[in-house]
Amino acid sequence: MTEWTSTLTLAGCDENWVQNLANLLAGNNWSDNLKSIVKKLANGERLSISDGHILYSHQNLHEIGQLANMVKLARFGKNVFFNSNVHINQTNICVLACKFCAFRRSKKQSDAYELSIDDYLGEMEKYSDVIDEVHSVGGLHPDWDIDFYEDLIMAAKNKYPNISIKALTAVEIKHLSNQSSTSFVETLSRLKRAGLDSLPGGGAEILNDQVREIICNGKESSAEYLEIHRMAHSLGIPSNSTMLFGTIENIDDRLNHMDKLRNLADEYGLFQCFVPYPFLPDSTRLPEAQLATSNEILRTIAVSRLMLDSIPHIKAYRMNIGDEIAELALNYGADDVDGTVRQESIMHLAGAKSSLNYDIYQMAKLVSDAGYVPVKRNTTYTQFSSVKLEPPKRTKRLKMIQ
Ligand code: SF4
Repeated sequence: MTEWTSTLTLAGCDENWVQNLANLLAGNNWSDNLKSIVKKLANGERLSISDGHILYSHQNLHEIGQLANMVKLARFGKNVFFNSNVHINQTNICVLACKFCAFRRSKKQSDAYELSIDDYLGEMEKYSDVIDEVHSVGGLHPDWDIDFYEDLIMAAKNKYPNISIKALTAVEIKHLSNQSSTSFVETLSRLKRAGLDSLPGGGAEILNDQVREIICNGKESSAEYLEIHRMAHSLGIPSNSTMLFGTIENIDDRLNHMDKLRNLADEYGLFQCFVPYPFLPDSTRLPEAQLATSNEILRTIAVSRLMLDSIPHIKAYRMNIGDEIAELALNYGADDVDGTVRQESIMHLAGAKSSLNYDIYQMAKLVSDAGYVPVKRNTTYTQFSSVKLEPPKRTKRLKMIQ
């Protein structure tokens, strides 16, 4: 097994990726309307929003995928990353009611739940031998404040110091700040001191306040999402970023969303991964949603890779898009495929059918079947180890019946 390390900002990316890319792009016969984009990429220039529109409307999806994949290869070679993780949602009780959300419950509903600190540690214990990250997001509980979360994170960190805690989306940080009358920076500092390692990217949805008013009224504004992540980065807390697409947004909204994220990533370089995922409609309240086709999912992943020059990793979020599209996405610019995900409920309540509770060899097979080299990473992309495929199990061949 080969092991290596990287820094938080490089996150495993080859420092010479722009030169690598120029070499890879040379000599290919690109369509005329992509030539100016290819030239910019080869020179390390940022693509404009108009370039993004060309990428979205270009008929040959395969060519966009090929271009995005070259950026991925220039940055990471044939490596594709995953981690060993579990999702634990501390409560589904939420004071908001976002229209796309199949997870939240009011306190009075019979299937509402709230985990005590002991319950939470019990959930971690089930998987503590086989994970190195716990991913925790949940509803905005009307009674929980920062003291509760400090105690929760501290207890988890004391019991499992080697398990990384990636927890609390921007709207949860805002909620805790409101509950405890603390500023965003104070809330984040206290959580960091308690043991919080990183923030997930959830809650970004689409960074257009008019769209947000319709699909997630009452959630943090676009500016607040960016400010909370900016504050986290200023404190040295790395984070992911996301985009929910296929609701009521248009292409321009998606491209502006990417533009806002890459501009913030320029400041501290601590948006490590971008996770674009399509809206899943089961048990939600958004009949006007356009829904994204498989082609659109692949195109959005490819466009993300090409637009987001300051965010190193693009994730094929298999929890949401399933293993089959996730494997394809690895040839459309994605370099990360989430993790073993021992348990998950938010996406599955909305209709996801993806498999859970993989071991690292199942993940390695998924990556290897797509033609890439499986690499297990830690949460913050600073430690890596190659994973060998398990030898195929010997099975007796059945005799043909004559
Ligand atoms: S998406 Fe989050 S904030 Fe919105 S209703 Fe669901 S749990 Fe609550």
